[in-house]
Amino acid sequence: MAVYHRILLKLSGEALKSGSDLFDFEKVNEVASIVRRMHDMGVEVGIVIGAGNIWRGRQGPAANMDAVTADQMGMLGTVINCLCVADALRKAGLDAIVQSAVDMNRFAEPFNAMAARRHLSEGRVVLFACGTGNPFFSTDSGVALRAIEMEVDAVLMAKNIDGVYTADPMKDPTATLIKDITYTDALARGLKVMDASAFALCAENKVPMVRVFGLDDPENLLRVLEGSDIGTFVHP
Ligand code: UDP
Repeated sequence: MAVYHRILLKLSGEALKSGSDLFDFEKVNEVASIVRRMHDMGVEVGIVIGAGNIWRGRQGPAANMDAVTADQMGMLGTVINCLCVADALRKAGLDAIVQSAVDMNRFAEPFNAMAARRHLSEGRVVLFACGTGNPFFSTDSGVALRAIEMEVDAVLMAKNIDGVYTADPMKDPTATLIKDITYTDALARGLKVMDASAFALCAENKVPMVRVFGLDDPENLLRVLEGSDIGTFVHP
C-alpha cells in the first residue's frame, strides 16, 4: 500500500547514465517499470529530470561561456532526457506526457499547471522538462515549483548518493548521513541537497516532505512509497 497519493520524482541526469554513455538504457527501463508499479499502486507520478549526464550550465567548458547560453543548453538537455524516459514509460505501458517550461510545441506540450494536474488525476505520468524555464536556476528549483503547483504529498529525490551528508563524503571521510532535517536548517548549514532557491521555495510553501535517497537500487522508489525511512527526510 502506498502512503502517498501524488508524488513528484526527481531524477538527476547522472542517475540515467553509465560510464561515458549518455544513457544506461537498462537503468532507464528499470526505472520505467518501477514507475509502472507505482502507477499500479494508485500513485499519481510527476517527474522532473536534470541534465547532468549531458550538460550543466556552470561546469567544465560551460564555465567559459555566456551563462544564459550555457543554461539554455542545460535546459535543452532536460528535454532530451524527458523524451527518453517518456519513451521508456510508454514501452512499459503507461501514458506519458512531456510538458516543457519553454515552448517547444512539436516536441512537448507547453507547461500548464491545470492541464498537468488533470493529466495526473487521469492516471498519466507527466514529465516536466526545462526546469523553471529560466537561466540561473537548476532543476531543483523546477522540482520545488512543480511540487507546489501540483500539490504533491511528497518529493522523491533519487540521486547517485544515498542521502544528505554532513559534508561531501567523496572529500571528507568523517561525513555522516543526516536522517532528518528541516528545510531551513539544511539551508542554514549550506547542505548540498538542493540549491538555496529551491529550499527557500519549499520552506515558504510548506512542501510536505522531500526524501533524498540513492537510485543505485531502483526498488528504493517503491520502498519510499511504502513508507521506508531510507535516505534523508527533509521537511518544513
Ligand atoms: N537549467 C536552467 N534552468 C532551470 C533548470 C536547469 O538553466 O530551471 C540548466 C542549468 O544549466 C543546469 C542544467 O540545466 O546546470 C541541468 O540541470 P541540473 O544541473 O539541475 O541537472 P542535474 O544535476 O539534476 O542532472
